[in-house]
Amino acid sequence: MGSLKIENVKKSFGPVDVLKGIDLDVKDGEFVVFVGPSGCGKSTLLRIIAGLEDATSGNVLIDDARVTNAPPSKRGIAMVFQTYALYPHLTVRDNMALGLKQAGTPTAEIDKRIAASSAMLSLEPYLKRRPAELSGGQRQRVAIGRALVREPKLFLFDEPLSNLDAALRVNTRLEIAQLHNRLKATMVYVTHDQVEAMTLADRIVVLNAGRIEQVGAPMELYNKPANLFVAGFIGSPK
Ligand code: ADP
Ligand code: MG
Repeated sequence: MGSLKIENVKKSFGPVDVLKGIDLDVKDGEFVVFVGPSGCGKSTLLRIIAGLEDATSGNVLIDDARVTNAPPSKRGIAMVFQTYALYPHLTVRDNMALGLKQAGTPTAEIDKRIAASSAMLSLEPYLKRRPAELSGGQRQRVAIGRALVREPKLFLFDEPLSNLDAALRVNTRLEIAQLHNRLKATMVYVTHDQVEAMTLADRIVVLNAGRIEQVGAPMELYNKPANLFVAGFIGSPK
């Protein structure tokens, strides 16, 4: 289970209205990608879903339970950031284990989950290393592994490929797609890259200046963009 409902979410920073009323239903197991230009509010929306930021008004529901005021650890989510957000002084293994330890997960269960996740992401050779001893691609796989071991209902990705070079970007994208196929987990993924959106998404949500311009399957947006903004962004030739 891992459905997500966003009801009329608004967010202002001081006088600036960053999100101007977002409504969205994400089905259990769906891969939804938020696209839009830099500064349109993608990260803010993701952080509100994660509980890292409070909405000014509106509600967030996960599996039909209102989590608007619940702390991140109580939402059954795991987030992967553009900058990996690993602890530099901890080994890969300890980075992956930390959240589970804090949640009181028994050691045997932690070991089992780390073994499974590191196999899935080919991380076994790196478990004893520290982040500084890894490449960018390896660091991002560790960050994905850390999300995986928590067995979240809902994965949130904020531009996870932006700091990787072109070849690694393709590989990591394929790994994320595979992960989605294997786990059947709900994934909400933010990017400003049209190719990522077109290849990963069941549905794409096009954001512009704090509003949703259009929601639909990739080919739906490509063939029938609701307006010029969507057409320009998704790259339809009309
Ligand atoms: P995106 O991820 O789409 O690039 P963001 O959600 O990061 O956009 O930011 C949307 C807007 O909100 C930007 O104008 C940004 O400057 C502003 N913003 C984001 N976080 C804060 C904050 N903590 N305080 C003030 N303004 C913020
Ligand atoms: Mg952002």
